[in-house]
Amino acid sequence: MPQPIAQDQSRTLRSPQDLARAGLVALDAVPGLKAVAARYATAITPAMASLINKEDPADPIGLQYIPNVAELITAPHELEDPTADAPFTPLKGVVHRYPDRALLKPLLACPVYCRFCFRREKVGPDGGLLSEAELQEAFAWFEANAAIREVILTGGDPLMLSARRLGEILGRLAGMAHIESLRIHTRVPVADPARITAALVAALRQTKPVFIAVHANHAREFTPDAAQAVARLADAGVPLLGQSVLLRGVNDDASAMEALLRAMIRNRIKPYYLHSLDAAPGTARFQVPEVDGLALMAALRGRLPGHALPLFVRETPMGGGKKPVA
Ligand SMILES: *Cc1c(COP(=O)(O)O)cnc(C)c1O
Ligand code: SF4
Repeated sequence: MPQPIAQDQSRTLRSPQDLARAGLVALDAVPGLKAVAARYATAITPAMASLINKEDPADPIGLQYIPNVAELITAPHELEDPTADAPFTPLKGVVHRYPDRALLKPLLACPVYCRFCFRREKVGPDGGLLSEAELQEAFAWFEANAAIREVILTGGDPLMLSARRLGEILGRLAGMAHIESLRIHTRVPVADPARITAALVAALRQTKPVFIAVHANHAREFTPDAAQAVARLADAGVPLLGQSVLLRGVNDDASAMEALLRAMIRNRIKPYYLHSLDAAPGTARFQVPEVDGLALMAALRGRLPGHALPLFVRETPMGGGKKPVA
C-alpha cells in the first residue's frame, strides 16, 4: 500500500539534542527545552536550519522555529483553540464556519513547527492523519452540502501528503458538481522546497482551479530553492496567494515587511492576508499590538504597489471568522 505521507528524506531537526548538535541552541539549554518539546511539536528542515544565523539570538528565521522556554507560560488571555474551530467541526477533519466554503484537514503534520502556530495544541508529526474511512465520511459530508463552493485544504500541511494521495483527494472534491474551486494552505514551498516535485505539481492539475496560499513571514525564506519550487507551481498555472503572520522581531518593521511583500511579488505570489497573531498558548513573545500593525500597513501604502498590500485581518473571538483590523 502506498504511504499517504511522502517520505521525509531530509535531516529535519526534531529534538532539543538535534538543535544543540546543529549549534542552534546552547547545550545547557537542552534540559529546559525538553519540557517545551514534550508539549509542542518541534521540527526544523535543513532548508530553514541553514538559513538561521547561529550568532544572532534574534535571527528572524530562528525565532520562528527554535523552541523557547517562554512557551511554557500561558498568558491569561491565551486560548487552546483561539480560532474556535471546535464548535464549527461537524465531523473529524472538517471546519465549517462560512456558508460557501469549508476547511478539510487531511493531516496535522507540517514540514516545520512554527512556535507561534494557532493550532499548536493540535499539530504534530504523528497526529491527525484521517483514516480512509474518515476521509470517505468527509467526502460524503461535502457531497451532501451543496452550498459549499470552495474546499480549503489545510492542517497541518496538505503538501506533506504523497502526490498520489493529494491527487486522489483533490480529484474527488473537484468531481463534485457544486465545488467550483479548491485551495491549499501550505508552508512547504519555503520550508521544504524539495517536496514540490513534478509528481506533486501534476497532482494539482484538476478539472477545477486549485489555488495555493503560501505561508511566509520573512523575505529571507525565499531562498533560490524556494523560488524554484514556487516557480514550478506558477509555471503550472497555479494561482498563488501569500499569507503571513505579523510577528514581533520577525516582520514588524516597515522595511522587513516591505522586503517580504516584494519577495512575494517577485515570486508571482499575490499577498493576500497579514494575520494578527492568534492568542495560542505560550506565544505572547510574538504579539504585536494591533495599533502598531495598522501603523505598519499605513506606512506601506505609499511604498508598495496597491496589489502588493495584503489585508490585515484578525480572527474574531467565539469563531466569528476573519475580519479586517480597523
Ligand atoms: C480562514 C477560514 C476560511 C477561509 O477564509 P477566507 O477569508 O476565504 O480566506 C474558511 N473557513 C474557515 C473555517 C476558516 O477559518
Ligand atoms: S506550518 Fe502552519 S499549521 Fe504548521 S506549525 Fe506552522 S503555522 Fe502551524
